[in-house]
Amino acid sequence: DVLSAGKSGVTPMMAQYLEIKAQYPDALLFYRMGDFYEMFFDDAVAAAEALDIALTKRGKHEGAEIPMCGVPHHAAEGYFLTLIRKGFRVAVCEQLESPAEAKKRGYKAVVKRDVVRLVTPGTLTEDSLLDARRHNFLAAYAVVRDEAALAWADISTGALHVMPLSPVRLGPELARLAPSELLVAEGSERDLSSIVEDMGVPLTAVSRGSFDSISAEKRVSALFMASSLEAFGTFSRPEAGALGAIVDYLELTQKGKLPLLQPPQREATQGVMQIDAATRRNLELTHSLSGGRAGSLLATIDRSVTAGGARLLEQRLSSPSLRLDVIRRRLDSVSYMTAQRGDAAKLREALRKVPDLDRALSRLALDRGGPRDLAAIRNGLGQAETLADMPFASDLPDDLSDALRGLQGHDALLSLLDEALIAEPPLLARDGGFIAPGFDAELDESRELRDEGRGVIAGMQAQYVEQTGIQSLKIKHNNVLGYFIETTAKHADAMMSPPLSETFIHRQTTANQVRFTTVELSEMETKILNAGNRALEIEKRLYDRLKGAILDVSAKVAAASKALAEFDLACALAELAVIEDWCRPEVNESRDFEIAGGRHPVVEAALRKSGEPFVANDCDLSGGDAASIWLLTGPNMAGKSTFLRQNALIALLAQMGSFVPASSARIGLVSQLFSRVGASDDLARGRSTFMVEMVETAAILNQADDRALVILDEIGRGTATYDGLSIAWATLEHLHDVNKSRALFATHYHEMTQLAGKMAGVANATVTVREWEGEVIFLHEVKQGAADRSYGVQVAQLAGLPEAVVERARVVLEALEQGEREGPAQKALIDDLPLFAASPAPTPQVKKGPNPLKQRLDEVHPDELTPKQALELLYELKALN
Ligand code: ADP
Repeated sequence: DVLSAGKSGVTPMMAQYLEIKAQYPDALLFYRMGDFYEMFFDDAVAAAEALDIALTKRGKHEGAEIPMCGVPHHAAEGYFLTLIRKGFRVAVCEQLESPAEAKKRGYKAVVKRDVVRLVTPGTLTEDSLLDARRHNFLAAYAVVRDEAALAWADISTGALHVMPLSPVRLGPELARLAPSELLVAEGSERDLSSIVEDMGVPLTAVSRGSFDSISAEKRVSALFMASSLEAFGTFSRPEAGALGAIVDYLELTQKGKLPLLQPPQREATQGVMQIDAATRRNLELTHSLSGGRAGSLLATIDRSVTAGGARLLEQRLSSPSLRLDVIRRRLDSVSYMTAQRGDAAKLREALRKVPDLDRALSRLALDRGGPRDLAAIRNGLGQAETLADMPFASDLPDDLSDALRGLQGHDALLSLLDEALIAEPPLLARDGGFIAPGFDAELDESRELRDEGRGVIAGMQAQYVEQTGIQSLKIKHNNVLGYFIETTAKHADAMMSPPLSETFIHRQTTANQVRFTTVELSEMETKILNAGNRALEIEKRLYDRLKGAILDVSAKVAAASKALAEFDLACALAELAVIEDWCRPEVNESRDFEIAGGRHPVVEAALRKSGEPFVANDCDLSGGDAASIWLLTGPNMAGKSTFLRQNALIALLAQMGSFVPASSARIGLVSQLFSRVGASDDLARGRSTFMVEMVETAAILNQADDRALVILDEIGRGTATYDGLSIAWATLEHLHDVNKSRALFATHYHEMTQLAGKMAGVANATVTVREWEGEVIFLHEVKQGAADRSYGVQVAQLAGLPEAVVERARVVLEALEQGEREGPAQKALIDDLPLFAASPAPTPQVKKGPNPLKQRLDEVHPDELTPKQALELLYELKALN
């Protein structure tokens, strides 16, 4: 056994294992042995548990048995993903030579092995491991004295960004970018871990040296073959450090095969709407509160047909713009497509066939690609040319005509790939068979020789049947023997005695068969093998050539990919706007906020499934003579939260460059968006819910300015009534007097409605309900004015509280309200309340809205019905029930 100890106690192979493992103490070492990756010692114990695979033992080390587990190499990708999700990193150690080559160096020599790649969350490239519709960012945060910066790279597109970023803004930025992995310098994990944990971003501590700004500068400029970083702009020390850390980490994990990084770009923090993590969560922008993509705004509005388009949508949604020119140009693109439905339909048809160019390109750059990636580039560029050749109905708007240029000019590469590749190549280059016939004369010749050989062998069988007179003789092939001649065992004697034995050389006897070869057969086999190997070699060389041809123009390919995404997104947003009846918003420099007929896209979509209509509502926070803050009251379930959020979403959609769910919208640029909900249960994170609420409210009051849009939903409900009311009251006053933000404030404290009388900028609004035969009917209409009461008892009744409890609550409420009117007498009143007495009144039917069953029944005149109509009516009534 290779692993059992020799005299020294350590086998050569185990010595090799331990030496390699020592270099990767923080990763699970996947040690390649033949068709398996094996793990040993603690790695095996951890991996077996995480992957739920069998833990076995093999050999001994220093007297103790070695725990071991293994996974087949062809299935390794799936295991990588599970391990990464569980917080592990994997060092992939491959065999760098064949066992035969090792033997040449001596019969005990161990096969050379080394780590070829570290698998970490931020450096994945495999399609199967990545969500095609999402970005995969690797980020690094550098702090140098009192300056700090964040850099991030998307390995699949090569985009590299950096920006100065103080620690207080780190949380919101991480929320926006949602990187898969964040690098920090060793020793600073503790300071940052609370921020990072909140965001759920895996943290990787790397050596301080890799953040060192001087060597970082050298490393980065060397990468881009510039004499200094200044070629790309001036970067502060932390900026250079963060960029350096990213490049260093990529070199380390990819073992020198760097992705196609583009020169670093400084991201303008001023250019995008600020949205902090709590607001993103609360508005369910890219994930719903339950965690998945389903039910989020992103999932609801995504009509893109390419992976690149979906990623662009996510990026725009995560960073709405603050630049009017950018917003208007994007809106122009959407307008064009809504007007030219014919163009849009044709474009979408072509876009559907576009593969994921970015990711194919990055796999090729990292040498992790295959013939299918070459084909993806060919197909993608082919579609790009098709798109570019389309006659457009009228002049394209700026963004799209820029994009159009990116789609053109790939003829040379395209015709090379077209000529070289077959239509649907196999996954792996090493199996060959992907180069089209006619592309390379030498390859064609080798393939011909190989195939001819196969034909000759087929001919030999007939010849041998005749020679031996054995009709059942066959020539077969397997991986152990190669080509061989097979007869059943009963012919063995004849075959093995003269004259046949002079031609047929015995090779193997199995239970029922005897196998032979001949000189002629093995010569032919060698010929076939040589020709086949030669063909494979040529194909491998051609693969490298094609890959090189693509990488030579990688920037152009990336530009084509970006252009395709731009077209896809414009078409997708137009499709959405037309189908959902959205309008083009007017975004300007004013402080207006005037929405007519606004809707909440996600709630509307959910209601549609149950066949209920969504009630559109207006909102005006323009200020001036009108109010800039609306105080919204109304019972639970009336639609307050929905109204608040829909207005925030409309602002966000408008500034990302999309049409909006409204009949008209005029929005003065919103620079910051805040959304908070009064204490919901946040037990999972182990903080007092009220504390969370107050911390978050403080963040708003400290940051919001007169361009902010603030949405506060039931702030203060996490504590005792009077505390809560006082805090809500003071918060609203501060927003009005100090922050001067546009705001929507929902509350169930009716006392606050008095504020509208005192402050010019505050107006009361309420979501209307109607009382009908003792029940509440929600109309979901937002109107000026204050709610007269909260209807809490009625809502409780709707929820199915026992009738006796509902009745009792009515009595208590009446007493309390009377007490409020009469002041100090209240205490006495409560004492005087008649004792709880269950007197169940006849339970009325509790229904939302007028009872449709009853309505329909009232219309029926049984005398006029035929038996068939009666039966149909019965079905109809049953459906209404
Ligand atoms: P609140 O915040 O007042 O308790 P929500 O905003 O959570 O109420 O709304 C409760 C439910 O009422 C929603 O889930 C939705 O089904 C429905 N709803 C809310 N707004 C509307 C509307 N404008 N049109 C139709 N249904 C609505």
